[in-house]
Amino acid sequence: MKTAIIVGAGIGGLATAAKLSSKGYKVTIYEKDSKIGGKVNYIDAGNFKFDLTASILMTPHIYQEVFDYAGKDYKNYLKFIELNPIYRAFYSDGTSFDLFSNTSNLTKKLEEISKEDSMGYYKFLSNVYEKYIIAEKFFLNNSFTSSLDFFNFISLQKMLKINTLSSSYNHISKYITSEKLRNLIAFQSLYVGISPFDGPNIYNLIPTISQLYGLWYLEGGMYSYVNALERLIYELGGKIIKNTAVSEIIIEKGTAIGVKSVSGIDRADIIICDADFPYAVKNLIKAERAKGKYTDKKISEMKYTCSTFIMHLGLKKTYPKLLVHNIYIGNDFKENIQSAFIGKLPKHPSLYIYCPSRIDNTMAENGTESINIMVRVPNTLNNNIIWNDSTINLMRERIFNDLSNMEILSDIQENIIYENITTPQDFLERFNSYGGTAFGLSPTLLQTNYFRPHIKSPTVNNLYFVGNSVHPGTGVSIVLLSSKLAVEEILNQ
Ligand SMILES: Cc1cc2nc3c(=O)[nH]c(=O)nc-3n(C[C@H](O)[C@H](O)[C@H](O)COP(=O)(O)OP(=O)(O)OC[C@H]3O[C@@H](n4cnc5c(N)ncnc54)[C@H](O)[C@@H]3O)c2cc1C
Repeated sequence: MKTAIIVGAGIGGLATAAKLSSKGYKVTIYEKDSKIGGKVNYIDAGNFKFDLTASILMTPHIYQEVFDYAGKDYKNYLKFIELNPIYRAFYSDGTSFDLFSNTSNLTKKLEEISKEDSMGYYKFLSNVYEKYIIAEKFFLNNSFTSSLDFFNFISLQKMLKINTLSSSYNHISKYITSEKLRNLIAFQSLYVGISPFDGPNIYNLIPTISQLYGLWYLEGGMYSYVNALERLIYELGGKIIKNTAVSEIIIEKGTAIGVKSVSGIDRADIIICDADFPYAVKNLIKAERAKGKYTDKKISEMKYTCSTFIMHLGLKKTYPKLLVHNIYIGNDFKENIQSAFIGKLPKHPSLYIYCPSRIDNTMAENGTESINIMVRVPNTLNNNIIWNDSTINLMRERIFNDLSNMEILSDIQENIIYENITTPQDFLERFNSYGGTAFGLSPTLLQTNYFRPHIKSPTVNNLYFVGNSVHPGTGVSIVLLSSKLAVEEILNQ
């Protein structure tokens, strides 16, 4: 029986474990934390349950594919609920806007802005949809192991077609005149941790996919996906060892042969690393030659995504005007969004507010609400900000100040009965997320596709990487694609 060791029980590690176990591999996962799931984690505060970070679920078929692959019916593990409207946007002038997923309601709402912007929005979707179809066929499902996979006429031609040079925001502005609608779309392209004002406009595919394919909610919250993967892994005979950090990936004569931890040395035929790539190459791979081009210097020079400040709040009353996904667009939108990328805390933060208890009473008791408020902030590579009590209090104050513009949440502070704060320092310390980033290596043009760290190590035999800092990129469904590609590579070998 072939054996595999996986370093890290994040989404990438868990999905890879399930798939390899279903193909007869004896799989062992080592996880440093006491809970599995990595950044897709949870807080159980008695009457209140919270997803720690991820909450926006696009492309459910990618989540389901792991179960299909293992010959199981995902419906026995998970319940997906389609959301409509997908978002409710609140603006600092007290107005709001619902983004519906069905076209009749959507069109009516858009026409309330203007017929021109309604047409513009559909043209924008059509333009980005074409890019998505190309990206899906040529880039997201190709592991680019060899340079010829990328540097060929067809790939380069397609690459040029999808990567026009304007930023996400400029691209949106070509089609839409309403500043409020522009900001709502641009806010969503932030979900890969890159600024919509500087980042390549290909990331407009996030608002486009959400609009065209819908947004979904998993009963029990996003963490129910981790629970489902765990159950699947155990059913298939896999093993998960928690509270055990790997300190070294052992490489002998150019081949990965095992891992070292406090429990000693464990050997396997293949090693898959889901721990964040830049952290792992810097800390777990000791020999300079095995690091290949990813020397410590190169790792420190690469570009990284921003991070996130999160308040998890248990509230003693309900807020029926919230949906599951809400976006608050604050004043001076551009200046405040850009703060996260220039080492500053936003003065008037724009917020993403997640309220799963609106439709799921497993997340909060009847008559109460569990909500997450998230703000993009700089990662810890920027030494300007130390996440101590005074920084946390400053962010809290700024958030509550701005929330006073949102009439429906103006009494929120007096109704808090549970509060937890998560900062970039937590991502750094708890999950070894390099630089405390939320989304890993930045998906800039020079750090995507062939230029992003590869799934199959080019320098070490039998070593593979999955997760948000390797190809194809960041976010749960894209990390699931990294697992899919890794398993294909391993089985092809
Ligand atoms: C605030 C925030 C909001 C987000 N929102 C969304 C969203 O709405 N939708 C979405 O799709 N995505 C979202 N994401 C992104 C998504 O959560 C990540 O892209 C994804 O979870 C990353 O999975 P991963 O497998 O790459 O790694 P991780 O989650 O980083 O897992 C790596 C695992 O490796 C473990 N590990 C590290 N070092 C060692 C070691 N030495 N030994 C053993 N174990 C080790 C870590 O503890 C961790 O469990 C969000 C992320 C954040 C932070």
